[in-house]
Amino acid sequence: MIIILLGPPGSGKGTQANFIQNKLSIPHLSTGDILRQSVKNETDLGNKVKNIMARGELVSDDLVLNVIKERVSENDCDQGFILDGYPRNIIQAKSLNIVLKDIDRNIDRILFLDVDFSILQSRIETRSKENNDEKRADDTSEVLIKRLDEYKAQTEPLSEYYRNNKKFKKINGMKSISEVSLDIENFLDNGI
Ligand code: AMP
Repeated sequence: MIIILLGPPGSGKGTQANFIQNKLSIPHLSTGDILRQSVKNETDLGNKVKNIMARGELVSDDLVLNVIKERVSENDCDQGFILDGYPRNIIQAKSLNIVLKDIDRNIDRILFLDVDFSILQSRIETRSKENNDEKRADDTSEVLIKRLDEYKAQTEPLSEYYRNNKKFKKINGMKSISEVSLDIENFLDNGI
C-alpha cells in the first residue's frame, strides 16, 4: 500500500506514521529525516540543504525529487511505503504522480491530519521549550513559525488539490493519539 500522510508541522504525522508502519510493515519515508541524516553526515546534499532547513524554508523541488526517486526504488519499498513530508507543494505532487507512473504504482490512501492553527501554535511553543534528545535544530519557536508559514503558503493547497480524489480523507488530528490511530486504521482497512 502506498500512503501519503499530509498535515502541518505538529499535527502528529511522525507518530501516526509509526503506527501505520507497525500495522502494515511498510517503511516510513520521511524526507525531513532523510535530509537531516544527510546534514549530519555532511554529504553534498546535506551541505546544500543545511542552511535552508535551519531557516525553516523548503529545499528545492529537484533535490527532494531525487531523494524520493532513489528511496522508493529500494527493495524494502516493494510492498509499499508511507510518505511523510512529501509532497510538500503541487509541483511535488505532480512529480510524484510521474515517479509512481514510471514504476507502475498507484497511491492507495491520502491522509490529511487536520489540526487548527491555534492548537498548532501552542504545540509549537511547548515543543520549542522542550529539551530532549529528539529536539531538532529547527524546533526553535521562530523557525517553527516560519515552517508553519511555509506550510500555509505551499502545502495547505494540497488538500484542495487532492480533495476530489477518492483516496483522500481528512482525519481530525485534534482527537487523542489513539483515537486518531483508530480513525486511520478504519480508513486503511475499509477506505472510509
Ligand atoms: P519535516 O521533518 O518534514 O518537517 O522537514 C524538515 C525540513 O526539511 C523542512 O522544513 C524543509 O526544509 C525540508 N523538507 C522536508 N521535506 C521537504 C519537501 N518535500 N520539500 C522541500 N523541503 C522539504
